Amino acid sequence: MVDYIGLERVQELVARLGAARFIEGLAGEIEADYRRWRDFDKSARHATHSPVGVIELMPISDGRMYSFKYVNGHPKNTARGLLTVTAFGVLADVETGYPVLLSELTFTTALRTAAMSALAARHMARPSSRTMALIGNGAQAEFQALAFYHLLGIRELRLFDTDLAATEKLERNLALLQLPGLRVTRCLSTAEAVQGVDIVTTATADKCNATILQPQMIEAGMHLNAIGGDCPGKTELHGDILRRSDARVVVEFEPQSRIEGEIQQLEPTFPVVEFADVLAGKAQARTSDSDVTIFDSVGFALEDFSALRYLHRLHHEERGTKREIDLLPALQDPKDLFGGLAGRLAARVPLRVARG
Ligand code: NAD
Repeated sequence: MVDYIGLERVQELVARLGAARFIEGLAGEIEADYRRWRDFDKSARHATHSPVGVIELMPISDGRMYSFKYVNGHPKNTARGLLTVTAFGVLADVETGYPVLLSELTFTTALRTAAMSALAARHMARPSSRTMALIGNGAQAEFQALAFYHLLGIRELRLFDTDLAATEKLERNLALLQLPGLRVTRCLSTAEAVQGVDIVTTATADKCNATILQPQMIEAGMHLNAIGGDCPGKTELHGDILRRSDARVVVEFEPQSRIEGEIQQLEPTFPVVEFADVLAGKAQARTSDSDVTIFDSVGFALEDFSALRYLHRLHHEERGTKREIDLLPALQDPKDLFGGLAGRLAARVPLRVARG
């Protein structure tokens, strides 16, 4: 049997811990794994593109456990009443190759992306940061807002989306959360939203080289958390923002980010820093309060590995509905795989053995 974590169990675990503690714990798990970066067998994810979207497989292993995530990105899906991003994943034991967990990862991707964004901002943004613009108010937006409120101490959010209904949905959900001291302002444009803020999060979805942020919008000291540009031909920042002499660009895993990140717009030798090096103290993300820091996030398999292990631990520690699925045969004789199937077959179709 294989442990199964579905939507209900994730809802239950988040409710049990509370969103803030859940995201904080997840950020801690991700940070601990980035601190042992060299333990991991890493590769850029495998992407299968179509004119409307992408389906990706994201494998990784630390030699003891292996995980992969299936994830899609289809920006036009919402017009059909479907999510832009859905996902599920598997955690397996390297020793036997046996899967130990099959889990939903759609809610969890939003949670881990928010945890990762806040973790990066903790090491990159000015510590005094209290205001954030949130451009793109779709599925990821509440999770980003929650993580930055709880982990960074953001107390003012300035919202903009080309779809007013998305911003209204975000305002409604934030009001339901009743976050003390949080001021939420609806803006009429990206330029208005980003004016004077400490942090800008871009979480838009469009399969094109967009320029959500233009060079003239960027102010000294800002931290940019760019999560929506995550595919070849799908970016959010004008290239000149990355080229600013006072800008520092941090990526998750450089070989993947060169293909998918904002830096795909730049020459392949353009200097970037990996987040693991920032954590290890080998590179600095910010040297002064006036630097512009850019987290060029595409989402890396390590974050899903951390999330799957975190979920699996909580699943066993916390009370509630624990489910397993019969994904693997358990046989008395492991060489008699056919026997495992034939027990049922024999009941329906008598097997005939020809004698020569
Ligand atoms: P979504 O489709 O639910 O929301 C995207 C929002 O962006 C929509 O409300 C849309 O109206 C808005 N938008 C599009 N163009 C815009 C523009 N020019 N200005 C302002 N708003 C605009 O998608 P989502 O699930 O919230 O994901 C957002 C993006 O984040 C996607 O591109 C997705 O691929 C990406 N993503 C990245 C990571 C990561 O780890 N980096 C993880 C998950 C999702």
